[in-house]
Amino acid sequence: MDLKVLVSFLNDFASLSLAESWDNVGLLVEPSPPHVVNTLFLTNDLTEEVMEEALQKKADLVLSYHPPIFKPLKRITWQTWKERLVIRALENRVGIYSPHTAYDAAPHGVNTWLAKGLGACTTVPLHSSATSNYPTKGGHRIEFSSHSAENLETVLSRLRETPGVSLVATLPARVDGEEQTRVSLNCTQHALLQVVALLSQNTPLYEKTEIMSLQKPLLADTGMGRLCTLKESVAVSVLIERMKSHLRLPHVRLAIGAGKSLESEVKVVALCAGSGTSVLQGTEADLYLTGEMSHHDVLDAVAKGITVILCEHSNSERGFLLELQMLLATHLENKIQVIVSERDRDPLQVA
Ligand SMILES: [Zn+2]
Repeated sequence: MDLKVLVSFLNDFASLSLAESWDNVGLLVEPSPPHVVNTLFLTNDLTEEVMEEALQKKADLVLSYHPPIFKPLKRITWQTWKERLVIRALENRVGIYSPHTAYDAAPHGVNTWLAKGLGACTTVPLHSSATSNYPTKGGHRIEFSSHSAENLETVLSRLRETPGVSLVATLPARVDGEEQTRVSLNCTQHALLQVVALLSQNTPLYEKTEIMSLQKPLLADTGMGRLCTLKESVAVSVLIERMKSHLRLPHVRLAIGAGKSLESEVKVVALCAGSGTSVLQGTEADLYLTGEMSHHDVLDAVAKGITVILCEHSNSERGFLLELQMLLATHLENKIQVIVSERDRDPLQVA
């Protein structure tokens, strides 16, 4: 399968517009075209050890959940491991694609997979994503009426030249018994001031100007983190065993909430794969489940009576790759081989 076709399939599988604005997602390293992908290699983290495995297994594209390139690279030398990854990839004609927070937000993504370990429950995102295909550029809608066709043409041509303005419609309208033209446009915050200034210069001609703030509708099942309400509440100790089995881990780290014990009942769990503090903060729940939190953030949660389970950053994400392997293989009708790294692992272990 051609790389371009595969990348557009991957972008459809989970839209990159769901990713956080600070993130660095999508195709990060591209060998010169045409590039045919027979083997897609999945990993949570692309370390040099994992890259070696990908080359041994003749991968044509590596899908690395975490972006191996995040900060801009000013040079590509043999000095640092990130630069060496890019060199190894290009010299061996291997592409690198990273979905990261787009998979966190997706309804069939990492957080939904993590929630499956809790047992039967209903889940909603802690922070819902806004829909991306809402037909608007900019955050404001301006509507006004004009009764001077000649002057309107001049104003419209000025508006068309203003950056951040997109005209939506010019329609005939009857205002107070008079034939007028009703104009609708969308614009950015910055352009809003310019549009208002332009209209006020021509005041008597423009009437019934309305300015509306546009908000994109939120998606019900897409977004960061998940708030999970268990169908039947269970003891903390039971939940620990469920998560260990779901994550295939011998240990998790546990902080019991103030006044609680291993026997305390858990009904509501707030979870976030990876590093959850910013997403979980302020959420009311019996238990927080995430990969990592700082000492002081754990103390804050515990003081509120919230029990915290930490399973190390990538251990809260990696298991999704096996589900992803099946999803991609099915959706791609087994046209390419999809394999999961065997060497990818969390760098921390209990010694
Ligand atoms: Zn992560």
